Amino acid sequence: MSHLQIKRNCVVCKEEFIAKSSKGIYCSMICYKRNWRELQKENTLVIPKIKTIITKEDLNSKHYLSIKEAVVLFEISEVTLRRKIKENNLKYVCLKNRFLFLKSDLKKTLFDIHNVF
Ligand SMILES: [Zn+2]
Repeated sequence: MSHLQIKRNCVVCKEEFIAKSSKGIYCSMICYKRNWRELQKENTLVIPKIKTIITKEDLNSKHYLSIKEAVVLFEISEVTLRRKIKENNLKYVCLKNRFLFLKSDLKKTLFDIHNVF
């Protein structure tokens, strides 16, 4: 009876060990658990990187919109919107370094765009 013995270096502690199967990459359960925990940590770090997607539904109930939100809601380019805001001298409120515009003002401005073309 011959036992399959594979000499490997543990992926966690880099110590040489005898793997019981060709799939063994950890020298012990301790290293397995340690690596598993590290992987979990990496996974949780990825989550906050995902950009929050603004949907039209979210914006319909809002009275004030930021430039970025208005772009999503009215499906226009940011450049056009900014130019129109400037041209029409749109009133704004500044909240936490963000410029917010009244939705009804934005609509009025955008209706003007449609009349021009
Ligand atoms: Zn190890």
